[in-house]
Amino acid sequence: MAYEALYTRGRPKTLSQLVGQEHISNALARAISSGRLSHAYLLVGTRGTGKTSTARLLSKAMNCDAVHEAQSSGRELDKREIPCNKCDACRNFDSSPDNVEFDAASNRSVEDVTRLLSTAYLAPLRARVKTFIIDEVHMLSFEAVNSILKLIEEPPPNVAFFLATTEINKVPMTIRSRCQVLNFRLIPQQTIAPYLLKLARRLNVALHEDAAKKIARLAEGSMRDALTYLDQCYAMADKEISLDDVNETLGLISDESLDEIIAAIMARDRSAVASAVTAAFQSGIAANAIAEALITRLRDREFELLARGEKNFAELDRIIDAVRKSTGEMYGSGIPDIILEMTLMKLVSSIPTLTLPPTTQAAPIAQPTVNLDAAKKIFYDTASFLGDTDASVDGITDKAAVTNFSGDTLTLTFKSDAMAGLFQKNLSKFEQAAAQVAGRAIKFSVVVDKNMPAPVLQNLSESARNNLAGAMDIFHANDADKIND
Ligand SMILES: [Zn+2]
Repeated sequence: MAYEALYTRGRPKTLSQLVGQEHISNALARAISSGRLSHAYLLVGTRGTGKTSTARLLSKAMNCDAVHEAQSSGRELDKREIPCNKCDACRNFDSSPDNVEFDAASNRSVEDVTRLLSTAYLAPLRARVKTFIIDEVHMLSFEAVNSILKLIEEPPPNVAFFLATTEINKVPMTIRSRCQVLNFRLIPQQTIAPYLLKLARRLNVALHEDAAKKIARLAEGSMRDALTYLDQCYAMADKEISLDDVNETLGLISDESLDEIIAAIMARDRSAVASAVTAAFQSGIAANAIAEALITRLRDREFELLARGEKNFAELDRIIDAVRKSTGEMYGSGIPDIILEMTLMKLVSSIPTLTLPPTTQAAPIAQPTVNLDAAKKIFYDTASFLGDTDASVDGITDKAAVTNFSGDTLTLTFKSDAMAGLFQKNLSKFEQAAAQVAGRAIKFSVVVDKNMPAPVLQNLSESARNNLAGAMDIFHANDADKIND
């Protein structure tokens, strides 16, 4: 049997199963019980919040024999029996020619839409009520909107319209004022996570609670997105889904790695920032995913601190702001990794040293370490930056090895006194360029070691060289001042 997506399987079968929209299901249950249904509904809300599912439940209920019996005998219906899903009308609903569904965002022609709408004037073939479910109704052509308007104003007998939209402001007021409006809320994480856990139990999968919470958060209020994410993890996992599985399957960075980056920024430790970000890149996580996760994590930290009575968030806000701006720059850029790296590096030089109280989960905080790779990156970025305008420095940098990086002092070792001397003569040029590249003052200390093994550029990995080339491209494409402001 073909695999059926969780989103299809998880679709509500009765009003009682409509998750997170109780204000709507309660009101509809009362209206159905008392036979006060409207002939035109406008279902408004972001994607995946249950608009189409509700429209289907309502169309089904309008035709359900059991619902009609209850209505005529004056018996109040429970949400669990709307619709009954047992009578002929319910069982044949999915193939009913009297239920017309289409998505206005799809490429249907104007003629096609007009033809579909014109069938509203024909009596239903089998059903009590002929129903039209139109998704993304704000995308309809002017002509189609006019046809619908006419149909709603003077409705033919036994016809009902369900118009769904994610953008209410684009729906003409003439339509809005003639429909009963149902406003769908974003579904809270606290509702989505338990639902996912329940669904997983039904599927015989051990979904970890932190994994369910992570998916619920990612879904941003959309049950459809939550089920799609769970589906992806379910496809990859074997009877068990942990937080690590979720992170790996969906290409997300772990909270621990995010806390390492944040701690390194707060401690103004460039090397630690560089190594934490590099580690994330190496595990295949995209720069924009890291940036978005960082923003969310920082916002969570703010809420935690707020709960502890903290009032000053200026520095955290500044980091959030800078990272948020960088996501805009990354969009469409060929070098998102470098943009993120540079954004974080600039932050390191611009914020005062701060320590954040540990998170409630007591995530490990990165210890500052001497990172020679970061020092090499600064030095070779500086060398390329200079070499572009001053060919005479090329010969010098080729002969230097970066051997230590302590505080802001970068140690270079040369094999010969002559080369060391030549570097000293050009020292101020290097210092100025390094300050540009690193965004803060860098001092150079020079050592001569006659036994030094062969030089240096070979030390750089292929990807570091590529990154370097990318970084230089930005410098050439833009005004260097802009990058360092
Ligand atoms: Zn029924």
